[in-house]
Amino acid sequence: MKPRDVFLAAIRAQPTPRPAVGSATSVVTTDLMQHVGVSFPDAHLDAEKMATLAAAGHTVLGFDNVMPLFSVWHESAALGCEVDWGDVSHMPAGRRPLRNTLSPDFAIPDDLPLRPPCAVPLKALRLLKQRLGNEVAVVGKIFGPWTLGYHVFGVEEFLIATLLDPAAVRDVMRRLMDVTVAFGNAQIEAGADALTLGDHCTRDLCSPEAYREFLLDLHAELHERLPCPLLLHICGDTADRIPFIRQTGIECFHFDSKVPTPTARELAGPRLALMGGTSNLDVIRSGTPESIAADVKAKIAAGINVIGPECAVPLDAPWRNLRTLVDECCKAAPRSNLT
Ligand SMILES: [Zn+2]
Repeated sequence: MKPRDVFLAAIRAQPTPRPAVGSATSVVTTDLMQHVGVSFPDAHLDAEKMATLAAAGHTVLGFDNVMPLFSVWHESAALGCEVDWGDVSHMPAGRRPLRNTLSPDFAIPDDLPLRPPCAVPLKALRLLKQRLGNEVAVVGKIFGPWTLGYHVFGVEEFLIATLLDPAAVRDVMRRLMDVTVAFGNAQIEAGADALTLGDHCTRDLCSPEAYREFLLDLHAELHERLPCPLLLHICGDTADRIPFIRQTGIECFHFDSKVPTPTARELAGPRLALMGGTSNLDVIRSGTPESIAADVKAKIAAGINVIGPECAVPLDAPWRNLRTLVDECCKAAPRSNLT
């Protein structure tokens, strides 16, 4: 079985000859950029550079998938949000919300996928598909209506509105869903085998009741409307909403180490695949070969389907720790039957 097949089976919770290793979010570090000779911000803005850096996720680190959308800003920038694209040691950040008040009276531009912040990752996905697509899984990334609401209206304005004017929030999210679907379909067309669906409805900012009330149906609808497996990524302690995520039909949940691994496995049940759960700070950034090996063993023992970091890897982590994680995973289950 090729790495691509292992990854695509694992994210559907199907049996694999070894645990898959991969990530729904960025695995780029500053020292990986130096190693490859391609850096931020160029790798966000130039398709060839983006594809080269993303490919290193497999060619240097050994992961079973590659994922070229390193930041959270592409579709929001295409909508008109002003973005500071950062540098070799800083991830991009939004400068200010696009709109001051929450209201659904805004149009989604028809040419959204053609605008440079979307066109660049779409071209990078095509390049990755051509170059590595037979061997490794090519994963795209889209953001759900909760994250897009933060970007377009500002976190504070959006969250206050969930309390004061839930009907307006629903209208706005319904409109923003079209952005998620349009960019997702364009990524599938460009060659993505699966899509990360990031939605920052983390516990600090979204109660389990709010998840059920505002997002459960929309995430289930995204699963229906996007014809490829989805990897839902939500940061933080999500134990209180994993039972709802099970109901969405989404194939795989990329979970944070704030949920203890055995708890995540129990809550997810046998059908929802689990990815990640390895602490970025304790294991990926500060781990030793021994502590990384122990973490990999614990994840495999708990039945995690795809071993890897919990969220976007901190830029100041050493890439060799990611390679160690992959090597430990292979040691635990030899790859001799792989091409
Ligand atoms: Zn995250």
